[in-house]
Amino acid sequence: MSRPVPNPGILDIAPYTPGKTPVPEPGRKVFKLSANETPFGPSPKAIEAFKNVATHLEDYPEGTSRVLREAIGRSFGLDPNRIICGAGSDEILNLLAHTYLSQGDEAISTTHGFLVYPIATMAVGAKNVIAQETNLTCDVDAILKAVTPKTKLVWLANPNNPTGTYVPFDEVKRLRAGLPSHVLLVLDAAYCDYVSRNDYEMGIELVATTENTVVTHTFSKIHGLAALRIGWMFGPEHIIDAVNRIRGPFNVSTPAMYAAVAAIEDTAHQAMSKQFTETWRNWLTEEIGKLGLKVTPGVANFVLIHFPEKGTTSDAADAYLTKRGLVLRALKNYGLPHSLRMTIGTEEANRLVVDGLRDFLAGK
Ligand SMILES: *Cc1c(COP(=O)(O)O)cnc(C)c1O
Repeated sequence: MSRPVPNPGILDIAPYTPGKTPVPEPGRKVFKLSANETPFGPSPKAIEAFKNVATHLEDYPEGTSRVLREAIGRSFGLDPNRIICGAGSDEILNLLAHTYLSQGDEAISTTHGFLVYPIATMAVGAKNVIAQETNLTCDVDAILKAVTPKTKLVWLANPNNPTGTYVPFDEVKRLRAGLPSHVLLVLDAAYCDYVSRNDYEMGIELVATTENTVVTHTFSKIHGLAALRIGWMFGPEHIIDAVNRIRGPFNVSTPAMYAAVAAIEDTAHQAMSKQFTETWRNWLTEEIGKLGLKVTPGVANFVLIHFPEKGTTSDAADAYLTKRGLVLRALKNYGLPHSLRMTIGTEEANRLVVDGLRDFLAGK
């Protein structure tokens, strides 16, 4: 008997394996440092805005996220008509794949790129092409070499997750200049708010001056609104128009919209979080380095810790820290089987991780 068959490519997607449920020893407080969430939560003003709309949950949202597009426009100096909002930037990445890729097309991402990219690519039957990184960093020449006549799209998280490394803006411009003009370049700036480097930009200038580049951003990281699922994209008018045609008419909820408006306007909350993250990223990099473990120098809100391939393995370290209530992210499905990613947490959490790693390495 015949039965429904998924479209080509769907069953090639590795099924999503959820993070393990941490079971620490009795009496240990649990610190979730595995999903790059902020230890501060959202701005109190965002929580207040969220509560204020709870009195009208019977009404459909305004379908174009107008108040939020205007707030983003004010905050970044952008035309709100060139912004689209989504249920997380994940939704927007998938909408881009649906709009610009089909069976037989190729999309390029890098060795340790964000896992949503291959899923979005393969979900529409396109081929996921991997460009090799150099020193866990995107290599523009490798991407350009991977281009074929079938290439339609390039995914680039800058800074990247899970490596935490970034590409200087000059290199991003060189990538754009080297790609054929019909190839869409997607710059995913989920972590841009944490970067303070003179040679970094999220890419707004490039989007504003080309017809084939978009930048996506999220409220899940520095704004602390991951639970509400809200992200946005800035792009050329013709791309916004095309994506709007397949977007769900009410894809962003009213509470998400208003909480995000309050969050983006609370610049003090963002500045505090950025400063804290930088201080503790430096501290963690140095202290973990002193223990003899390699840490990739990152610019986002997490650190990437490398373990030897034999002996003191990352699996054992992960299990040891988990018992102490410290939940980091193992990266096997990112092709980094000997590394753990640690989201920068509260001062208490950060100190406990360093103490935990020290005890682990001492065989305690
Ligand atoms: C966290 C993250 C996002 C944000 O996803 P949302 O769907 O907006 O929560 C996007 N890109 C990368 C690389 C991320 O790590």
